[in-house]
Amino acid sequence: MALLSKAEIDILLSALEKLQEGFSHLPDFSPAADHDRIKDVLMQVATRMQQNYPYHHPRYAGQMLKPPHPVARLAYALSLWINPNNHARDGGIASSMMESECIASIGAMFDLSNPLGHLCGGGTMANLEALWVAGKLHPGKTVLASAQAHYTHSRISDVLALPFEAVPVTPDGCMDVTALEARLTKGDVAAVVVTMGTTGLGAIDPLPEVLRIRQRYGFRVHVDAAYGGYFTLAEALPPAARLAFSCIGEADSIVIDPHKHGLQPYGCGCVLFRDSSVGVLYKHDSPYTYFSSAELHLGEISLECSRPGAAAVALWATQQLLPMKRGGEFAAGLNRSLLAAQELWRRLQASKRLKALMQPQLDIVVFGARSSNARDASALARKLFEEAAKRELHLALIELPPELVRHYWPELVMNRGTVTCIRSCLMKPEHLDWIDDIWSLLESAALALHE
Ligand SMILES: *Cc1c(COP(=O)(O)O)cnc(C)c1O
Repeated sequence: MALLSKAEIDILLSALEKLQEGFSHLPDFSPAADHDRIKDVLMQVATRMQQNYPYHHPRYAGQMLKPPHPVARLAYALSLWINPNNHARDGGIASSMMESECIASIGAMFDLSNPLGHLCGGGTMANLEALWVAGKLHPGKTVLASAQAHYTHSRISDVLALPFEAVPVTPDGCMDVTALEARLTKGDVAAVVVTMGTTGLGAIDPLPEVLRIRQRYGFRVHVDAAYGGYFTLAEALPPAARLAFSCIGEADSIVIDPHKHGLQPYGCGCVLFRDSSVGVLYKHDSPYTYFSSAELHLGEISLECSRPGAAAVALWATQQLLPMKRGGEFAAGLNRSLLAAQELWRRLQASKRLKALMQPQLDIVVFGARSSNARDASALARKLFEEAAKRELHLALIELPPELVRHYWPELVMNRGTVTCIRSCLMKPEHLDWIDDIWSLLESAALALHE
């Protein structure tokens, strides 16, 4: 898989010439640059970046990493010759309008007709804004999220000075609704965070059940779909996940990370609010900016001020090339990741040395190294990780609490607080084509465990 395509550089050059035409009426102006020295430094950068890990190749199948689509990379680079700031329309009119169109398309993917929303630095910032709004509407009340939710929720709650409590999970890593309801009866809950695709396991919390009891207890439902949101377009979802994804639009707020599964460079998260009237909470008076339009614009509905217009340009370009449609090319790529995970899990189930655990709901597969007890299984998982890396197959590790292991591996003696397992995110559309290669490296690494 070649990193470089000369054709892409030619496209960028043509597009830059086109961009330049738009400014040809201005007097000639060439910023000074010492190209010899720039080249020198760039060669040093290239040499340094050869050492970067993780990387783009399908044999990297560990942490969440999906290279941006070429169209995103090129559009991002192209926009940097202007460097728009989506803080307000005054910072970038064209890129702000592109952002608004992106938000409308993401909203439409969740069947939201007119959401309030914007792009931001990532899932952390996006979740912060959603919980900030929840706290404004329910001051001093508690934020609930499952024990498998991203750790950012407890930390964000701390920043916002909102109490936070974790709700236990069922053996498949999903929020336990019975435990949730037991907590809700005690009252004072501002928001329940429903994770659609946990970062560790890709588990889908039971959104339909949480929505059903929202009225009774009067909390806000915040969907953290930073990782999993785009899978709403995929066909190969398990039935319970399909049902949960189909009601995301009923949540009060939604977070999705275009920089996770949306083929974008890092620095692109997104928050959406179903009821646009929460925009008044962001109200402030700035003496510096915002003179170019009367309607509520991006700078007035975002906690971050300066933001890269480049991120909006890149996302807009990607959405033109790969519209977010069921049955479309983008959806097919996501579907391939689901199929890759299901295929890996199927092979693991028949393995003598590796131990399949919960069935993957998205494209993350977690499995153990077979042994009689948790201590040895954990040591073997670490060794497996290293043996695989020696074979240029790169995986990740995860520490699982006993309640997530026992159900699938009842014979394992629990002589350790957690069980170290292997975690593999098969995020790249190419992973399905590489599953035989990945599997043979994994088997070879597993064979080496007992040598
Ligand atoms: C990645 C992730 C986050 C954090 O998002 P960043 O973009 O890394 O800031 C939050 N929640 C979930 C479920 C995630 O997967």
